[in-house]
Amino acid sequence: MEFKGKTVIVTGAGKGIGREIAKMLVERGAHVVALTRSAADVEALRGESGCRAIQVDLADADATREAAIAALPADFLVNCAGTTELQPFLETTVEAFDRLVAVNTRAPMIVGQEYARSLIKDGRQGAIVNVSSVASFIGIPDHAAYCASKGGLDGLTRVMAKELAPHGIRANGVHPTVTMTPMAVKAWSDPEKAAGMMKRIPVGRFAEPADIAEVVLFLLSDEAAMVNGISMPVDGGYMIA
Ligand code: NDP
Repeated sequence: MEFKGKTVIVTGAGKGIGREIAKMLVERGAHVVALTRSAADVEALRGESGCRAIQVDLADADATREAAIAALPADFLVNCAGTTELQPFLETTVEAFDRLVAVNTRAPMIVGQEYARSLIKDGRQGAIVNVSSVASFIGIPDHAAYCASKGGLDGLTRVMAKELAPHGIRANGVHPTVTMTPMAVKAWSDPEKAAGMMKRIPVGRFAEPADIAEVVLFLLSDEAAMVNGISMPVDGGYMIA
């Protein structure tokens, strides 16, 4: 897949899956505009891969809208930034719930709105990929706020797919299983919990960021011109196990 001359906004490009998506896009000719939080990642993205990097806390709605507008114009959008906090349902705090929904659900809406408005105004076509999780399909203990935030994101993806497709903008969701990133270290460092999860993945391993990035790039590309509104697991068969 070639992205020569295309501009792609990637949120959460500072680490993990987003970083790999940005790297792969640059290798295939795209110009990447990264929206991410840590100053060190912003510097690294500018230096290593020549990305245009905008520092923003996506939990802040106004700052998110400002950053999204600053990132335009763009051909494609990948909403990859996400965060988690491990709390059992009975101990889930309102603060953590609101923070996860703000970053994982509300920020993709805000960035998606500005991206789509700009394309529609200019009469151009595009595609959006929202990075969800297998956690939106199932209940994972200690992930109540995370599962809820990703379920909300899936609802958003489906409405985007219906409302934006008539304007030539497709929207799809990608649902990784455990993927070896800083977030996975936070959520899956308990060997007993990790072994239980691994046992349910028929291919016998957790995902690597590149496994997810390849699928994201396919869904952005013209090769996926007729794919709209899907929730695609990238889970080694976890969902059928
Ligand atoms: P990482 O924690 O490794 O990276 C997340 C990236 O998002 C970081 O660059 C982080 O920046 C950025 N980010 C998080 N919160 C904010 C914020 N408030 N404002 C701006 N940027 C922010 O996560 P992964 O790469 O593992 O996850 C990427 C996506 O994939 C997420 O949406 C996640 O939910 C999803 N996913 C991941 C799985 C996994 O096992 N890894 C499994 C299923 C889905 P900073 O570090 O500076 O805060």
